[in-house]
Amino acid sequence: MSKIETDLIHQGSAFNETNAVVTPIFQTSTYYADSDLQAYIIAATATKHPGFYHRHGNPSNSQAAAIIASLEKTEDALVLATGMAAISTAILAVVKAGDHVVTQHSLYSGAMLFFREFLSDYGVQVTHVNQTDNKAFEDAIQENTKLIYVETPSNPNLAITDLAFIGELGKKHNITTMVDNTFASPINQQPKDYGIDVIVHSATKYLGGHSDLTAGAVCGSKDYIHKVWRRSLTLGGSLSPFDSWLLVRGLKTLSMRVKQINENALALAKWFEADRRIKYTGYVGLESHPQYELAQKQMKGGTGMLSVELIGDSEEQAYQNAQQVLNKLKIFANAASLGGVESLVVHPASMWGGHHNQQQKQSGGITAGMLRISVGIEHIDDLIADFDQALEGLQA
Ligand SMILES: *Cc1c(COP(=O)(O)O)cnc(C)c1O
Repeated sequence: MSKIETDLIHQGSAFNETNAVVTPIFQTSTYYADSDLQAYIIAATATKHPGFYHRHGNPSNSQAAAIIASLEKTEDALVLATGMAAISTAILAVVKAGDHVVTQHSLYSGAMLFFREFLSDYGVQVTHVNQTDNKAFEDAIQENTKLIYVETPSNPNLAITDLAFIGELGKKHNITTMVDNTFASPINQQPKDYGIDVIVHSATKYLGGHSDLTAGAVCGSKDYIHKVWRRSLTLGGSLSPFDSWLLVRGLKTLSMRVKQINENALALAKWFEADRRIKYTGYVGLESHPQYELAQKQMKGGTGMLSVELIGDSEEQAYQNAQQVLNKLKIFANAASLGGVESLVVHPASMWGGHHNQQQKQSGGITAGMLRISVGIEHIDDLIADFDQALEGLQA
């Protein structure tokens, strides 16, 4: 195996059987049968075969999966149409009615809905625990627990789950462990190093990196990916040929992008920390992060994800301040999503107001004056100047 930067460019190139330097887009739903009947039977039944029917596989889907598997150090991977397709299909390949899942309070909103509404309707029990409390995970395990599902750093409060602990806990009790590694990206964190079985991604974010596609990935053992693929045949979340081509293209610069994003985010976080209009700066690369040491241990960089708590003594004032800053920012666009080359910002308290009740917001760490920021690769001086003017005149 080569180093990550090399794998990003060359991994999976064997799936390109043409002379084109770049794997062409196979924009086709189906493929001609081989005149050799035996070969056609194999094509129809082989896992992820890239030449039978699109829901089974496609050359650039195979290439993207090979790159992502090598990034996550797993035997195999499967790419799907969205991060949620990856998460739901991955989980449904592990649990069935009567099983139990242990997960954390703070989760991506789509994953939260999946656990709260979907799984409970289908007879799977779920326990949510505080992700910073290792013992809580262990205490929540039951006889029928089949999955421990975590997200670290989590959305939007950037709390960390102890991956080495979770990996060991899963092994000790023979429970599958799954990590949503979207926020960290494999450049900053490789959960396989800590014995985690399955890694899921919203490739819409850092992996794709240009806010021009949606995609998801599931990484794990060959046997497990075969099960996920079988599930995907019936759930049907296959990634389109064009989107997987864009994903392969975006992946080539992943390492460069993430390194620049780490650097920009740390500089911006330090600037926020020194500014009195910001009450609190949440960034895993700052020594003031309550789990800084754990972050240093399991992560190579701080990511581009930051959350800041604006001044504002009352809840109303803090909410109003957040709205003012959103309206005044010029480079940071107010848009959902993250992980692209452009800087984005959202106000979780208003964006997720419809999905979460007050108690869910609280346990998810969402407050009235919190902004969640995804730092891009623009020049750091411009990013700081943009916030400096947007914070002008905030009321305490
Ligand atoms: C965006 C996101 C998802 C869902 O991905 P989609 O591609 O939007 O379906 C899952 N987990 C995390 C952490 C995310 O940020």
